[in-house]
Amino acid sequence: MTVNLLDFDLEGLAAFCEQLGEKRFRATQLFRWIHHKGASDFAQMTDLARSLREKLPAAARITGLPVLSRQDSADGTIKWLFDVGDGNAVETVFIPEDDRGTLCVSSQAGCAVGCRFCSTGHQGFSRNLTTGEILAQLWQAEFFLRQHLNRPGERVITNVVMMGMGEPLQNIHALIPALKVMLDDHAYGLSRRRVTVSTSGVVPMIDRLARECPVALAVSLHAPNDALRDDLVPLNRKYPIAELLDACLRYLPAAPRDFITFEYCMLDGVNDTPEHARELLALLRQHGGRGVPCKINLIPFNPFPDSGLRCSPRAVVQRFGQILNEGGIVTTIRKTRGDDIDAACGQLAGDVLDRTDAARRLAQRRGVEQPIRFVTPHSERQA
Ligand code: SAH
Ligand code: SF4
Repeated sequence: MTVNLLDFDLEGLAAFCEQLGEKRFRATQLFRWIHHKGASDFAQMTDLARSLREKLPAAARITGLPVLSRQDSADGTIKWLFDVGDGNAVETVFIPEDDRGTLCVSSQAGCAVGCRFCSTGHQGFSRNLTTGEILAQLWQAEFFLRQHLNRPGERVITNVVMMGMGEPLQNIHALIPALKVMLDDHAYGLSRRRVTVSTSGVVPMIDRLARECPVALAVSLHAPNDALRDDLVPLNRKYPIAELLDACLRYLPAAPRDFITFEYCMLDGVNDTPEHARELLALLRQHGGRGVPCKINLIPFNPFPDSGLRCSPRAVVQRFGQILNEGGIVTTIRKTRGDDIDAACGQLAGDVLDRTDAARRLAQRRGVEQPIRFVTPHSERQA
């Protein structure tokens, strides 16, 4: 059995090189080949000591995830569906903007939190992704995009948001090394401010993230009181709002930004009245005496089949935002992107990733396209 080198941060790779009887600094060279150049073939790594190059193929490999599909939206958004085995698939979305390129990355196949308004939550939980599977999404997207957009040697992805499928803080063990690779100058060199972990509020893990790898934090709040939040985000029954906001206050001293982003999904007739806005304002301005320094992102709900929920009308979203802005909290309404390819928040997976449906589609593909042509950045290059 070979190990996949995408599973290692630099420290882990150094330990692996030592096991092979090689100097630790060789790991930096290897790491740069993988994450700076997108290499997957050891023979390519010409400046690596010959002894190491010869040992590596028997001990290690560099493999990404099979691509089940790639969809390109008219607005430049690109969505990949990656096969993670056993009928499970995860999605990754690239969102280009004038001054940045953001990749939305998945952390789990399915999600155990089960939020009412989220299609991933409705699918249930399959399993945690490994560090290598989290990083493969970035590695494959980055090196595909450099070629696709004809920007060789130039970084295309400038921001990563852990806002794809899954609750990243329920997979913190695999998440932390993956974040370290995103930040490492020998790899993607992203600044801590440009890597965001979004959580539904796993309180003890917010503290752990602060200790081990503080990056920008987004908290999915969605409700101004516990009664409503218990219903929308079941994890609230374990970690109620006051505890969650305390954790946010503890996070701030370590955070790369001096505010927390709160996400609030606008659900028609559920959490979107002016009273809810005023309650939210009071909560965030008064919690702990001095309030929680924050910004709010209002996310228009993206409907999916059988959710039983509707998006708030535009005017209602605007009024809600206005109350918050006038009350002194900077509030923005998130633009939806990639609508034509179902790449917007919470649509990730859409009906495709309903677990039974995913299994059916995988089986179908296997039937139709035997053998499956798994598309990696490299095989695409050759194609
Ligand atoms: N599990 C993490 C990160 C993934 S979800 C979390 O919950 O924060 C990323 C964001 O999309 C969260 O704010 C989530 O609440 C939001 N979201 C989920 N389903 C949605 C939907 N159908 N419409 C709009 N936003 C949704
Ligand atoms: Fe899980 Fe986040 Fe979806 Fe809730 S919103 S079910 S935490 S992925």
